[in-house]
Amino acid sequence: MALNILINGAKGRMGQAVAAAAKAAGVNVGAAIDVGDNAADALARCDVIIDFSSHQTTRALLELAVKERKAIVIGTTGHAAGERQELLALAAKVPCVWAGNFSVGVNLLFALTQRAASVLGAEYDAEVVEMHHRFKKDAPSGTAARLLEIILQERKLDVSALRHGRSGITGERRSTEVGIHALRGGDVVGDHTVMFAALGERIELTHKASDRAIFAQGAVRAAQWVIGQKPGVYDMQDVLGLRS
Ligand code: NAD
Repeated sequence: MALNILINGAKGRMGQAVAAAAKAAGVNVGAAIDVGDNAADALARCDVIIDFSSHQTTRALLELAVKERKAIVIGTTGHAAGERQELLALAAKVPCVWAGNFSVGVNLLFALTQRAASVLGAEYDAEVVEMHHRFKKDAPSGTAARLLEIILQERKLDVSALRHGRSGITGERRSTEVGIHALRGGDVVGDHTVMFAALGERIELTHKASDRAIFAQGAVRAAQWVIGQKPGVYDMQDVLGLRS
């Protein structure tokens, strides 16, 4: 039977890109909804939800998916750390792909960052810089948050190590800091650089997205994949078979 997807946040930039990617992949859009539409009615006609809307929507959407035992792909970002932990417990009750970034290139960047952070010790200062379009509502990006999580895990640090921008008399940089800087402007789809800087050399890993179609194609691929999985929270490393 053909797969029917429900797009939540259908009028947004990503919602529209998902509709186009589904069409190109021959996947049927059973319903496309936005603010004010009835998600329960729409879901009755669909097998899997793809959500790119607002972080305030995630809980209600997950509760609906659990009630109706439907799979879900969550692309929405901007959840606070505590909020995310609570939502993960709910998401684990259905087959769920939750990814801060659905592009193949960025998922490779995650793997490369992990490798670099494990090879390059604390004498290599780690900093993450991201840039997005002027309309983006949250910072740092979900992708930057995941890159930071990887670095913190490898260095056995917690979130208190993060330095969100710097200003004033900050003192010398400590080796236990991990910097994060969010730039906003124009129509930038999404740039991320992870930098490891020591005395004498510096390595930079950069990914630049120039078309949000890459995220939409990844989300459609995730929807096709997740429908056959057991309940649990997966990410794009699972979908792409990149998990080591
Ligand atoms: P956008 O503002 O263009 O679109 C969001 C849409 O969601 C709007 O049409 C809005 O009306 C709708 N919406 C808001 N609340 C809703 C609700 N309660 N029910 C239904 N619809 C609702 O934003 P965008 O650029 O499309 O991004 C959407 C989200 O996806 C953001 O959190 C963004 O950071 C994230 N994003 C993730 C990835 C990824 O790969 N994971 C890539 C790009 C963007």
